[in-house]
Amino acid sequence: MVHYSNFGISPQGRELPLVIVDQHKNFSPESVAKSGNVVMMIQAGIHAGEPDGKDAGLMLIRDIITKKEMQNLLDHVTILFIPIFNVDGHERFGPYNRINQDGPKEMGWRTTATNLNLNRDYGKADAPEMKAWIKLFNNWSPDFLADCHTTDGAHYQYIITYSSEIFGNMEKDMTDWTRDVYLKTITENLEKKKIPNFPYIEFRDWSDPSSGMEAFVSPCMLSQGYAALRNRPGLLIETHMLKDYRTRVLGTYQTLLETLLLLNKEFATLRRLNKNADAYIGSKEFRDKELPLDFETLKDSTLVEFKGFEYERVKSELTGGDWIKYSKIPKTYSIAYFDKLKGISFTKLPEAYILPPEWSEVIQRLDIHGIKYFTLGKSATLTINSYKFRDVKLRESSFEGRQLLRKLNFDEITEQRTYPSGSVVIEMNQATAKLIAYLFEPASSDAFVNWGFFNAIFEQKEYSESYVMEVMAREMLAKDENLRIAFEKKKAEDKDFANNSYAILNWFYSKTPYWDNHLNMYPVGKILDSKILDNLK
Ligand SMILES: [Zn+2]
Repeated sequence: MVHYSNFGISPQGRELPLVIVDQHKNFSPESVAKSGNVVMMIQAGIHAGEPDGKDAGLMLIRDIITKKEMQNLLDHVTILFIPIFNVDGHERFGPYNRINQDGPKEMGWRTTATNLNLNRDYGKADAPEMKAWIKLFNNWSPDFLADCHTTDGAHYQYIITYSSEIFGNMEKDMTDWTRDVYLKTITENLEKKKIPNFPYIEFRDWSDPSSGMEAFVSPCMLSQGYAALRNRPGLLIETHMLKDYRTRVLGTYQTLLETLLLLNKEFATLRRLNKNADAYIGSKEFRDKELPLDFETLKDSTLVEFKGFEYERVKSELTGGDWIKYSKIPKTYSIAYFDKLKGISFTKLPEAYILPPEWSEVIQRLDIHGIKYFTLGKSATLTINSYKFRDVKLRESSFEGRQLLRKLNFDEITEQRTYPSGSVVIEMNQATAKLIAYLFEPASSDAFVNWGFFNAIFEQKEYSESYVMEVMAREMLAKDENLRIAFEKKKAEDKDFANNSYAILNWFYSKTPYWDNHLNMYPVGKILDSKILDNLK
């Protein structure tokens, strides 16, 4: 019933281990699909310093295949188990890898051999391990994703904190099922088994429970956010770092076991929900609604009982700052839970996006994500919507090896553009439509443009010499009274500009026909009219 293989090779040459468990020895996506089973993907060790899920998953699989009374857990579910996702980080083994965590005695390291955090890599897909994972996900289209971690942060009594994407980024029926059936059942059952559990805890002031806690929508770069954009529910499991290792592993074991029990009962519903969500996201009905690209926490909250420990806030004579000193005395606090979110930054979805062929790094990512597109056989001039960027600021330090944007303002424009032969046209009538929008719309923090894939478009590449521009600017002012007014206004409003002779000459340059009309222009086009799209086929 157990098939061991790998789903790729790490940069240091290790197998990325994959364990498939199926009662009828169906070990391929095709044979499992034919059997009617749902596929539960369990991954552990994406952060190799948090190995609880590796041991819990192996124990659970051992018990299922050796204990007859547990074998009905495979009646309607096939398990895809990744015991160690970050396999190179796992071999950076030692006792000093997790300063806040109580065991095991030794553990792996958080990041990959190239120091990338795989749980920030789902959208940009830079790490070879992640590319292999997404390929596996495309092949299997798992019905449910459990991702096992150990948390940092505040101290409290709960062994397990958890998170599912029930705050606005999943299709509605799937959200309702996840909240009202799945989470409700497993959290109550864990409680009965004396495993205290609670929603993932993020305090508004990160160390201070009295500030209240906030729910959030996971971005695409995180496992659960990515699964939601692929129309699949899941569970983030975070064991509490100050519980001993045995307690954490057993807590993870029970959480996975409860999930398996429920999926065996709910398999038909889950399969239907997933199928419907795929169809809906690729439909005209979905495209005709405006899509939120971001979410905001509302001001109204509910009071919840939070099982913490007594603590005091102490002024530190060492640093001058405050620190939280926890006691060993359990205490139940009544705290505000801000668990209502609303969508913001809405966009009108196109019928298709179009991208010229030179942005090959982006096109490679489309292939990785299993996003379908077709290629223009000859150049085409068409009306598109796109974005013109302004006030672009880069972050001062890199993030996950990339130079991200700190600030990006833009105006939506409509214009005629010629796209060369080889341009790719990404139609939105596919199950990945929401992911596509999140990767291409600049208002999405997950967009390629925000991750720095298009940074070169923000660089001015031609410059005027002062001996040319000084003369030309005078001529322009003499001819154009409006330009003179605009110039005087700009100088009055912008002191830095007024004191920067180079900026002034460049401003005049930008008003000439010599100015680069590609600068700050998004190469991606949005085709809003289905007739224009049909003409390209
Ligand atoms: Zn983690």
